[in-house]
Amino acid sequence: RAKSMGPNQYCFYASDMNIRGHELLALEGDLRRALVQNEFVLHYQPQIDLRNNRVIGTEGLIRWQHPVRGLVSPADFIPLLERSGMIISVGEWVLHQACKAHRDWRAAGFNDIRVSVNVSATQFNDIDLLDKIRYALREEDMPKHALELEITENILMRDPAGATEVLESINGLGVRIAVDDFGTGYSSLAYLKRFPLDALKIDQTFMTDLTDYSGDAAIVEASISLAHKLDMEVTAEGVETNTQLEFLRTHDCDVVQGYYFCRPLPMPELTNVLHEKTK
Ligand code: C2E
Ligand code: MG
Ligand code: MG
Ligand code: MG
Repeated sequence: RAKSMGPNQYCFYASDMNIRGHELLALEGDLRRALVQNEFVLHYQPQIDLRNNRVIGTEGLIRWQHPVRGLVSPADFIPLLERSGMIISVGEWVLHQACKAHRDWRAAGFNDIRVSVNVSATQFNDIDLLDKIRYALREEDMPKHALELEITENILMRDPAGATEVLESINGLGVRIAVDDFGTGYSSLAYLKRFPLDALKIDQTFMTDLTDYSGDAAIVEASISLAHKLDMEVTAEGVETNTQLEFLRTHDCDVVQGYYFCRPLPMPELTNVLHEKTK
């Protein structure tokens, strides 16, 4: 198509593509240095236990402090990390970082708190995943029951038999497993029952319209009751309003996470929040 517009246009399009290619390459180069130069930072978002309104855990969420671009959100670089395989080493860094944070919280007297990290597809399929978890637990002196791995349902459903094996070995370590973004992918309910899962996190897209008469409400209600019947804890993600909170409370949701309570925060700020809301 570009060719039919004449040689100049063709050149324009070709060089345009090169620029984009170069940009991508530059970004990948930047990412390669980011780990060594300590540009990644893990923020933590509190998760509130609705039984007692205390912080039951935090989710570690990665950000990239780029020297020129500023704070880059994970949506803009996780796919690149996935594609290049760099997510494996960055994922290890995240795991260790979360365990170190947990050690700091324990030292400050917060002993009953958990920490979650997100595990991407490439990490989940890494044959060394289990060794890496074991190593992090040992190296960082991390209580295994206080660590939770978040895995999306699509990752699990791609190869349910293989996933069962991986999940069972993680579960065997005593580490918790949560299904992230529940309701956005497709889960076979039969597998949900068979996998050793501790928690289900209802995706934030279902929080937008939470009134008793909406479809979202029906989905959230059904997910909560499904989780409970399968003996799983249930967390609602993306809670932004008091109306949503009250709906979730009424329908027996266990844990909530969202801007209504707190945004993801860097380590020192998060520790301050723990002092306010945990003791
Ligand atoms: P996620 O695991 O589902 O994390 C929840 C996302 O929702 C986070 O976005 C969080 O900041 C955001 N959020 C929390 N509360 C609210 C709210 O009340 N309203 C709204 N609109 N959003 C809220 P974030 O930090 O940008 O992360 C996006 C995604 O990137 C994560 O989704 C996760 O899939 C991925 N991610 C983040 N950190 C890591 C990591 O260390 N490793 C891997 N593999 N993926 C990560
Ligand atoms: Mg998550
Ligand atoms: Mg999620
Ligand atoms: Mg997600």
